[in-house]
Amino acid sequence: MDYTSALAVYKEMLLLYCEEFKHYINSMCADLEPWQIIASTLVSTLAAVWLKGFLFQKESLLSRTKKQCFRIIRKIPFVGTSIQNQLNKALDDMSMSLCTLKEGMSYTKCLPAGGLTQKQVLESIRQYQSLNEVQWSKGKVSGAVYWGDEKLTDLLVKVYGEFAWSNPLHPDIFPGVRKMEAEVVRMTCSLFSGGPESCGTVTSGGTESILMACKAYRDLAYERGIKYPEIIAPISAHAAFDKAAHYFGMKLIHIPLDKKTMKVDVKAMKRAISKNTAMLVCSAPQFPHGIIDPIVEVGKLAEKYNIPFHVDACLGGFLIVFMEKAGFKLEPFDFRVKSVTSISADTHKYGYAPKGSSVVIYRDKKYRHYQYFVAPDWQGGIYASPSIAGSRPGGIIAACWATMMHMGESGYVEATKKVVQTAQIIAAGIRKVEGLFVFGKPEVSVVALGSNVFDIFRLSNALTLKGWNLNTLQFPSSIHICVTMLHTQPGIAEQFIKDVREEVAVIMKNPKEKTTGMALVLVQCSDQPQGQGLFYTIPYPLTILTCSSKK
Ligand SMILES: *Cc1c(COP(=O)(O)O)cnc(C)c1O
Repeated sequence: MDYTSALAVYKEMLLLYCEEFKHYINSMCADLEPWQIIASTLVSTLAAVWLKGFLFQKESLLSRTKKQCFRIIRKIPFVGTSIQNQLNKALDDMSMSLCTLKEGMSYTKCLPAGGLTQKQVLESIRQYQSLNEVQWSKGKVSGAVYWGDEKLTDLLVKVYGEFAWSNPLHPDIFPGVRKMEAEVVRMTCSLFSGGPESCGTVTSGGTESILMACKAYRDLAYERGIKYPEIIAPISAHAAFDKAAHYFGMKLIHIPLDKKTMKVDVKAMKRAISKNTAMLVCSAPQFPHGIIDPIVEVGKLAEKYNIPFHVDACLGGFLIVFMEKAGFKLEPFDFRVKSVTSISADTHKYGYAPKGSSVVIYRDKKYRHYQYFVAPDWQGGIYASPSIAGSRPGGIIAACWATMMHMGESGYVEATKKVVQTAQIIAAGIRKVEGLFVFGKPEVSVVALGSNVFDIFRLSNALTLKGWNLNTLQFPSSIHICVTMLHTQPGIAEQFIKDVREEVAVIMKNPKEKTTGMALVLVQCSDQPQGQGLFYTIPYPLTILTCSSKK
């Protein structure tokens, strides 16, 4: 039988089935009146529409079901009050530890009737300074302050003074600041191998840089006809991507890591790509374990599927670009990888500039275009701004520019050498401690520790008592030290390793001892002067609740 006659037979069979189906339906409806047929059609159509709306929402059914379950659990009389009591206790503990007023101090709640003199103001800031209990300048704190060199501080105070009143929102009034911003962007583009078409914006920090890239790719996705744009990011990517997804109505798909290397699982990333994908993300390095994701490999996916690709180098951007010159070899992580379309890098971390500055750069102007916002019809005039802020602190941009100019390439290479070397000394020292392990092979400045033998948070508690201030991480439980210039002072790394070794020896005498399950939350005390986010360890039940209320 040839092909056409086979087709004819199939066609005949199909027609036969259709006919039979028609008869079946008609016989089913034979006893119905027309209004009944119309009404049941209407009801079933509405039901189908409702069901589709219920099943396919931006938030997955699983996540919504979980949330609902937690809500119901909290309503059960005894369980609910017990959870609430635990919560209250944890919150009390937290506010106690955050709001340490010293003897005789109180909060100022109203303006002073008459202004204070300069002398009085300066005297009263001493009191505020005296609240510091953690001595970051001694090199015992992970991350947070990346250098804080006194001579640099003196310079920055002067530069800030010169530009304290400037605002890049008015480039016609403050052309100097505009030039400085352009130069900060251009110097950063050059560091990351950007071509002549590369461009960018100075933002207020890593979070804003990430928000801007996500906003740009969301709008690009809208233009490509994607209704529900999705961000595909490693589970280790910074929470700023969660924030971006939340703010901009995008969906974030978290990709697991390879358990051994702590790099994103590229195969899983490939499987997650769909017609809704707006962008791919890698970190260089990521915050939790300080590991650089496989950017070249993910770049191949981005190229194959023609998806924008953001590299988050907020943390280590101003280290990795100097590592080759400092004698440490890395795989390509920047615009040398053809499909990388944007990069975020924080000048206020290893750029050593004061807090409040970061850079987001794009391979091509066509991407940055989607970042901009314009309100053409505003009564106050046509209003255009490149990033989230309207008015922006020109003084901070000037201070950032001054830091980069003062450091110069040789200054950064020197600092990078010291930081990376110190991190490697610490990693090597930790690997020798029985009962501990280092996550993956950290190449830059963060070293994350875990244990298969004891609860690692016991170690962080013990180290806290010795004056160390480390970061606690979850899923899996671990702690990390983010090495800064302050840790490169003589003896600090050795002291850290010694303290770890001693405390682990104590813990190993009784490795199975239970601590209360610990978890961490990022707290920002909103009715107090805004500090940096603080990681706090709190009793376990709160994790369940914070997790459930997060998604
Ligand atoms: C710090 C950090 C950010 C965000 O930076 P902020 O300046 O705190 O907003 C983003 N990504 C990584 C990997 C970071 O370490």
